[in-house]
Amino acid sequence: MTLRAGLLALAVAVALAGCGLADTEATPRTTSDAAPVPSSASAAPDGPAVVPPPGSESRVYGSNPGAIVVAIDAGHGGCLDWGVPDPSERGVELAEKTMTLEIAQRLRDLLVDGGVGVVMTRDGDDALAGDDYPPLGCEGAAWRDVNGDGVAGFGPDVPEATRTRDELQARLDLANLSAADVLISIHINSPSEGGQRIEVAFSETFYTDETPWGPTSTAALADAVQQGVMGALDPLASYERGDRGTTAHNLYIVAPPLFAPTAERPDPAKQPSRGGLMPVVLAEVGSITLREEHDLLASADGQEAVARGLLEGVAAYLAGRDLAARISLADVPDVDPPSATTGDGPLFWARAVPDGRVALRLTNSGMAAWPDDLRLVVGWAPSNQPYLAQAPAELVPAPIGVPALEPGASATVEVDLATAGGGRMLAWISLMSGENTLADLGSPALQLSTGAP
Ligand SMILES: [Zn+2]
Repeated sequence: MTLRAGLLALAVAVALAGCGLADTEATPRTTSDAAPVPSSASAAPDGPAVVPPPGSESRVYGSNPGAIVVAIDAGHGGCLDWGVPDPSERGVELAEKTMTLEIAQRLRDLLVDGGVGVVMTRDGDDALAGDDYPPLGCEGAAWRDVNGDGVAGFGPDVPEATRTRDELQARLDLANLSAADVLISIHINSPSEGGQRIEVAFSETFYTDETPWGPTSTAALADAVQQGVMGALDPLASYERGDRGTTAHNLYIVAPPLFAPTAERPDPAKQPSRGGLMPVVLAEVGSITLREEHDLLASADGQEAVARGLLEGVAAYLAGRDLAARISLADVPDVDPPSATTGDGPLFWARAVPDGRVALRLTNSGMAAWPDDLRLVVGWAPSNQPYLAQAPAELVPAPIGVPALEPGASATVEVDLATAGGGRMLAWISLMSGENTLADLGSPALQLSTGAP
């Protein structure tokens, strides 16, 4: 259920921040209480000031790497380490969780060096949704029911299929509310046959082909990541490595934003309550069961190679992404992940709608200039959830012009977001071209809430 258009009052004031070249193709305005435009600018006097792309040497989206957010998920983590197998049976030093974290940190450093925003789902041997199971020696934080299924924790009373759902949901929530452009989940395989570990080395990458934006962009990300990792690791390997390519397969972290169980896919335990709102891939970068590969992935050289391969994959994917946007509150940085709340439910929640007029920074984070028909759209939905898993049924155009920004350029517009709804409401703010919003294409909407549930 959403508000009717009549309940949504949107008004605009054009932001006239001083500097910047303006785009001559900006949609004409009717408001004209304009401050003087700097003489260096060629803007229409009543259009929003356009900040040109800063440019950079970054391998990743050189037009404006600061407008890109890469969410990096170091697979596994915490004392219990998802409890499979018993953590007391393996060493920590060379565990999958240790290597994935080291690779994730190297990837983070490479991206940050290039000016790209990064959100880490963990930056230590941590778990977000609880790590408390004394029978296996783990006495960490209390369990939280993040995905709202009424089940939390670990142990014989908790079905095996539900063990990691809350942890994975918390990681998805962090990436979603950071409006990440991509989420890269890093794992290392332990291949087995008939219950026996097999000594074989290969890379493979998983993605989902059931996203609202179709398989195209997520498959492209998976292909780019797979090729990046293969290309980086092969030259270092003195043994045979396989390329198992990419596979469309719905794992919890690699699943559509919201789907219903079907006969072919009956397991709701694998269904996130709020799936990734951007292309997500799970990269099994190598295999831990072949000793030589294990040693390579435990080495600085091997980890750096994987990180560079992942970086190349992200860079190649973004270089092929035409239409994309970052929508932020103008007074907060583009990279501003939510802080974890306390309590026993979800950790991460949509930020509150600011009072009064809301200044939004719109940035073209794609490779093509924005089309002339792009318009800002807002939808509201009543909800007690941390944020919306999908767009409200009705999206209302805001009566403002959106400049046809060049790649990397940005502009600030102001809107009045008013809702007559009672109770907690969530706003979903995106850009629309033709029949598609950019959220439909994998650029997450900005989500704001009217308060705590
Ligand atoms: Zn794993």
